[in-house]
Amino acid sequence: MKKICLVLLIIFSFSKVKAQDSLKWSTKNRNLSIQLLFPDWKSKALILSFDDGRVEDRKLVALLNEYNLKGTFHLNSGRLSTPGTVNHDELKSLYGGHELSLHGYNHQGMTHLSNIDYIYEIGEDRRTLEQISGQLIRGLAYPFGSYNVDAIPTMRDLGIEYARTVADTYAFDVPKNFLVWHPSIHMFGKAGYMGNLPEDDKKEYERFDALTESFFETENLALYYVWGHSWEYTDKWDRVSRFFEKVSGKKNIFYTTHIDLVDYLNAYKRMIISVDKTQFFNPNSTTLYIKVTDYTDLNNPKSQKILIPAGSSAKIDR
Ligand SMILES: [Zn+2]
Repeated sequence: MKKICLVLLIIFSFSKVKAQDSLKWSTKNRNLSIQLLFPDWKSKALILSFDDGRVEDRKLVALLNEYNLKGTFHLNSGRLSTPGTVNHDELKSLYGGHELSLHGYNHQGMTHLSNIDYIYEIGEDRRTLEQISGQLIRGLAYPFGSYNVDAIPTMRDLGIEYARTVADTYAFDVPKNFLVWHPSIHMFGKAGYMGNLPEDDKKEYERFDALTESFFETENLALYYVWGHSWEYTDKWDRVSRFFEKVSGKKNIFYTTHIDLVDYLNAYKRMIISVDKTQFFNPNSTTLYIKVTDYTDLNNPKSQKILIPAGSSAKIDR
C-alpha cells in the first residue's frame, strides 16, 4: 500500500511540474518599469525638520521664509511657554506656512514607555497642538530618536502617519516604513558641541557639505532629509543661511513639508495598475507624476513621463 501511495505521489508531482511549465510568461509583457516622480516631474525632494520648539525657532523660521523654504517643526506641547521655548499664543503666526508636528508631550524617550504612557505622550501632545493651532497634526519626531516598534500599532490608532528617528542614513532613499523614518543627515552633525576638537567640527561640516553636493549631483530619485535643532545654531547662523541659499530656488527640487510628502507617497501607493503595466487609474484627489521605462532593448531603454490627474485614468501604447 505504501509503495502505491509513493508512486501516485511521484506521478502527481510530475504532472504538477508539467502544468507549471506550460504557464510561460511572455517576456514582451514583462519589460516595463514604473517609477515615482515628485509633483511637477521633479526627481528630488527636500525636507527640513527641526525639533524642540525653542525660542531660536523664531530666527530659523525667518530664515526659511527669506529663502522661500518649508520647514516641519516638532514640538513638545507640555513644555510650551516655559523658559527658552516658544509660547502658546505665537504658534499660529510663527509657524504659519510650515508644518506643526509632535515630539511627545514631555519629550520622553519612547523605547521603554508603557502603553499608557505612549498613549499619553502622543495623544495629549496631539490634542494640545491641534487645539492651539486649529490644524490636524499627523506626524512625530521621536524624542532622542528613541522608539519601540511594538508600539507602532498604538501610534497608528492615535492617528500618527509618520515618525522620524535620528538614525542618519547619509543617503536619499524614500523609506518603506513611514513610522520608522530615518533621515539623511543631522544638519552640521554634532559640530560645535562641548569638548569637540576643531578637527572633529571640520569633519562634521565637510560631511554635511559633501552630502549636499551629492544630492545636487545624483540623477536618481532622491529625498534629502535634513534635521536638527535651532538651539544648535548659536554660532552657526551664517552657515544655516548659506545652506538655505544653496538649496533654495532649484527647479528640480520639490520643497515639501513632511506630511505633504507622506500624502503624495500614499496617493502613489493607492494608484491602480494593470498587470501588463500599461493602464493606470488614480483614485486620489492629488495629481500623480510617474515615469514608465521600457527595457525591451536593454541598450536603448525608452522612457515616457505620464501625468495622471486626480480621479483619472491613463494608458500607454505598447
Ligand atoms: Zn528633542
